[in-house]
Amino acid sequence: MSVKVRFAPSPTGKLHVGNVRTALVNWLFAKGQGGSFVLRIDDTDLARSTQEFEDGIETDLTWLGLVWDERYNQSKRFDRYEEAAARLKASGRLYACYETSEELDRRRKVQLSRGLPPIYDRAALELTEAEKAAYEAEGRRPHWRFKLEGKRVAWEDLARGHAEVDTASMSDPVLIREDGLFLYTLPSVVDDIDMDITHIIRGEDHVTNTGAQIEIFEALDAKVPGFAHMPLLVGADGAALSKRLGSLSISDMRDQGYEPIAITSHLGKIGTSDNLEIAASVEALG
Ligand code: GLU
Repeated sequence: MSVKVRFAPSPTGKLHVGNVRTALVNWLFAKGQGGSFVLRIDDTDLARSTQEFEDGIETDLTWLGLVWDERYNQSKRFDRYEEAAARLKASGRLYACYETSEELDRRRKVQLSRGLPPIYDRAALELTEAEKAAYEAEGRRPHWRFKLEGKRVAWEDLARGHAEVDTASMSDPVLIREDGLFLYTLPSVVDDIDMDITHIIRGEDHVTNTGAQIEIFEALDAKVPGFAHMPLLVGADGAALSKRLGSLSISDMRDQGYEPIAITSHLGKIGTSDNLEIAASVEALG
């Protein structure tokens, strides 16, 4: 199977050099092997996503020469996420929880005061049908958590080498909020399966997610793709670059007169010991 990767920004802010470095590494990895590059707009959060940011992402990537072979919006794929959620519910891996955030907060404080890790205690798994019906009658709506196996999930990371996450040390992740909103975790796995993504290349802020997501790939009987987690770019103060940090946004750099090839050449060399040279084309960076 030929290589297929995706760049999956949320249209909730402008692209900055950190996001674009992830896009560039994905693009070079695919194009260097005759593979394809997918642009996936992660817009499940309809309240925070805007058309303006989505258009900005397309303008920036096109300007940088990072053209995509396929393009998807998560907001058009809710039926697929519903199907996957139904499967996970049927197999007992996705379970309804009725705690309010105040209740969860209180429990976490008690755990911490006893020197215990603040992990969700799975009390909802003990609820009877009558108790659930009583919550519903009170007007509560469930949020849905994925039941982790609680094991060492290991993979050979293409950037970090052997990697492991112990899912026993994590709370079961909430996949669906009480208002029905799908959080990022499940849609991403469903898309990676449906779009035949062979490698997931993203920032190392996703390492823990990967532990849970590998369990979700397995729970959906899918092949687990390869993973590479890249170190994040940080500012001079050592803090992660934020999407809301305007100064290093691609659109601002364009307005300041930077050439696209100067930006991609620089980002292509960050993290290597190679001398910085301005490449003749984005392809030449590979
Ligand atoms: N929308 C996610 C993000 O921007 C995508 C992460 C991923 O590549 O899986 O963090």
